[in-house]
Amino acid sequence: AASGKSTAARALAQRLGRTFLDTGAMYRAVTLVVLREGTAPADAEACTAVAERARLRFDAEGKIVVDDQPGEPEIRGAEVTRRVSEVSAHPGVRRALVREQQAIARAAVEAGGGVVAEGRDMTSVVFPDADVRVFLVASPAERARRRALEEGAPERAAAYEEDLKRRDAYDSGREDSPLVEVEGAVRVDTDRMTADEVVDRIAGLAEDAKGG
Ligand code: C5P
Repeated sequence: AASGKSTAARALAQRLGRTFLDTGAMYRAVTLVVLREGTAPADAEACTAVAERARLRFDAEGKIVVDDQPGEPEIRGAEVTRRVSEVSAHPGVRRALVREQQAIARAAVEAGGGVVAEGRDMTSVVFPDADVRVFLVASPAERARRRALEEGAPERAAAYEEDLKRRDAYDSGREDSPLVEVEGAVRVDTDRMTADEVVDRIAGLAEDAKGG
């Protein structure tokens, strides 16, 4: 959480002329529908039904659309953020969304392009055969500092650090597709890098992959 992966992936997709695939937005959108319908986030079967039924797509700006309604900004709200890890941990929810992510990528490749996909299980589960696989890391303190700055509330850094450590622990400890660093993915530590430097570095990896 808050490693800068969305910022980096979005900018990289733009630079490479590829489709940006924000998989966190998909899990957030399903969580939004779950909460709206009054479904319990702990109810695996009901959450799976929501994931299978929800019509998710991305608009021209790469923003998620759920059942023909814009998902932003509600999907970034406190309530969705608090419950999304629980909803995402259900294997049925993951199965439904992984299938959609792979379909989106397949369509992009068939159209002569490709995707820059961002998410905790991209390198391990969803796209193990991607041309370039990156594992982005940053220290909890640095991630909290960036998020607080982004929100214009630097005094909230300590609270953010607690929230993202909690989500890290939950996402790493879940049984289905935990957050893991896989062999073959390139680790990029962004603590002392600017956002532009991160994009340069990954674009360089993409360039190398094309050559070799
Ligand atoms: O990346 P973002 O913070 O928007 O993701 C929100 C939540 O969605 C994560 O905390 C995680 O629980 C879940 N998620 C996931 N797998 C992904 C992307 C997001 O489980 N590929």
